[in-house]
Amino acid sequence: MQTVKIPVSIDPIRAASSRSTYEGIVPGQQLKRLNELCAGDCSDVAVSLECGVDIQGIVYLKGKAVTELTLNCQRCMTLFTTEVTVDFCFGPCGSEAEIDELPDAYDPIECNEIGEIRLHQLIEDELIVAMPIIPMHEETDCNIGSMDIVVGEIEPAQEERPNPFAVLEKLKSK
Ligand SMILES: [Zn+2]
Repeated sequence: MQTVKIPVSIDPIRAASSRSTYEGIVPGQQLKRLNELCAGDCSDVAVSLECGVDIQGIVYLKGKAVTELTLNCQRCMTLFTTEVTVDFCFGPCGSEAEIDELPDAYDPIECNEIGEIRLHQLIEDELIVAMPIIPMHEETDCNIGSMDIVVGEIEPAQEERPNPFAVLEKLKSK
């Protein structure tokens, strides 16, 4: 299957007027900030994107991004992978006034000086926000159960501890 790369930057007005749609990937290794937050290499992000103009004449970029992240479980401290999905609806804005007027359904995105938005960076931002704050396995998958067994095996060592009464006996006999 041919893999289409999602453009790094996009002119939202042009893309919306031609009703462009994209299905493709953002290469995981290019998302440096996301990689730094993960415990392993970031998988490619599958993105679907639709550009259009709503009935109020507002330009939007609506879509979905899905990836698999390797994280370190904070309960058992082993690596696990989890799927992270984000739905986004960006409303590109050219000015502060446009940002103020944008309906709540849209996430205001400021266009740069050449009227483009940085799509890869925006998708990376969304994924970072969607990451679990305290990454953990699902309860049934977590290795914490096997850690309990390890604790159980250590217990016999306690028998080697001196008996406190024996110490008392020694003191008494002096
Ligand atoms: Zn775990």
